Amino acid sequence: MAKLGVYENVVAQFDAAAELMNLDPEIRKILSTTINEVIVHFPVVMDDGHVQMFTGYRVQHNNVVGPFKGGLRYHPAVDIDEVRALATWMTWKTAIAGIPFGGAKGGIQMNPREYSLAELERITRRFTFALGNNIGPEWDIPAPDVNTNAQIMAWMLDTYQQMMPPLERNRSSHVVTGKPIEAGGSVGRDKATGQGIVYVIEAWAKDHDFDLAQSTYFVQGFGNVGSWTARLLKSYGATLLAVEDHTGAIAKPGGIDADDLVRYVRQSGGVQGYPHGAAIDHQTFLSTKADIFVPAALENQITAETAPWLDVMLVAEGANGPTNVAGDAVLLEKNIQLLPDVLCNSGGVIVSYFEWLQNKRSEFWDLAEVDSKLHKIIVGGYRRVRDTAREYQTDWRTAAYIVALRRLETVYKERGIFP
Ligand code: NAD
Repeated sequence: MAKLGVYENVVAQFDAAAELMNLDPEIRKILSTTINEVIVHFPVVMDDGHVQMFTGYRVQHNNVVGPFKGGLRYHPAVDIDEVRALATWMTWKTAIAGIPFGGAKGGIQMNPREYSLAELERITRRFTFALGNNIGPEWDIPAPDVNTNAQIMAWMLDTYQQMMPPLERNRSSHVVTGKPIEAGGSVGRDKATGQGIVYVIEAWAKDHDFDLAQSTYFVQGFGNVGSWTARLLKSYGATLLAVEDHTGAIAKPGGIDADDLVRYVRQSGGVQGYPHGAAIDHQTFLSTKADIFVPAALENQITAETAPWLDVMLVAEGANGPTNVAGDAVLLEKNIQLLPDVLCNSGGVIVSYFEWLQNKRSEFWDLAEVDSKLHKIIVGGYRRVRDTAREYQTDWRTAAYIVALRRLETVYKERGIFP
């Protein structure tokens, strides 16, 4: 099957919001394209001595309110279309949150499971070297995404600093976020995206008199975002009915213990074979009858083909772009409510902003401070999107775009276009 385009979703979502809010046509031209697109090809020596070429990307969509910001993904599906879409979503996300960052994204087209740890380190270091000054602590700040983690960020930090003159090194620890805590990371960054999703779901539940303690949910993707969301929802008393990852899907009507599943996945590499759940197929998984579905894997999972299978009240998007335009139409028709990605999964970039601030000021905040500041910012975004949906009588994705575009439109009007 041909790969579904991802960027075409962004364009369609952007056009719908721009029309409805009457976005200034001149500013619309600026925001409908990316600013910089860097593609690097670089060689890495493999463990057996032969050389392999890799292709890496960094797309910078917009920086009118602050440095470019966004994750790095290591995955075979990474290409310019996907990275462009992900970079653009980052601009909307940071604008909705109201934090002083723009949008960027990047990655390497490869399957990291095919490489040893030593090879992954060399690939990461050589990619960082190839990016050179296209990233920087006040210019463009990468973070983890699919198949990248705190270790990868530590290697990037170290490589970047080796390229600096010695007296600049300690001034650049905020060149990446999502670092290990010992290497300058923030407490609460590992769970931040999941924590943000749960804060947004909680705000939605309050508005709808919905009792989370009695609720059921299922999660697609059990990596950073999916597993933390599952674990944190457990603390409200909600019941996890099914989980799917790249190895397969499992279900248990009485509820899966998310913490136990994390331990299993850590040693086995995936949910397949989990002894306290039954294997189910993809369609059965997506047809799970539950209150909440959290897609937290990849794009284009909820489509014209699969959206009709969903039997839930709410979709809370942990992944970026899990629903395409045709999928959105089906959700609306079925009256399934939506917490859109650019709002719902913004906890990661919000706490990345906290990490960046702590590094710049040589500070160290505790978890209570990180969580309470995250709550304030993400629930603020939730309220803006909710109120905008009411104001424009529109769906929540379009409303989220309008919140972002309004802010950016105001900034461009205030600053004007150079020269
Ligand atoms: P991760 O690499 O930690 O986990 C990805 C998960 O998706 C894994 O469990 C993997 O098995 C699963 N997966 C992969 N292919 C799949 C398939 N075909 N079907 C079902 N599951 C599949 O990545 P992550 O950081 O958790 O990111 C997940 C999503 O959340 C991505 O869309 C990412 O862009 C988005 N996101 C991540 C962050 C963050 O802070 N890490 C922040 C915002 C959004």
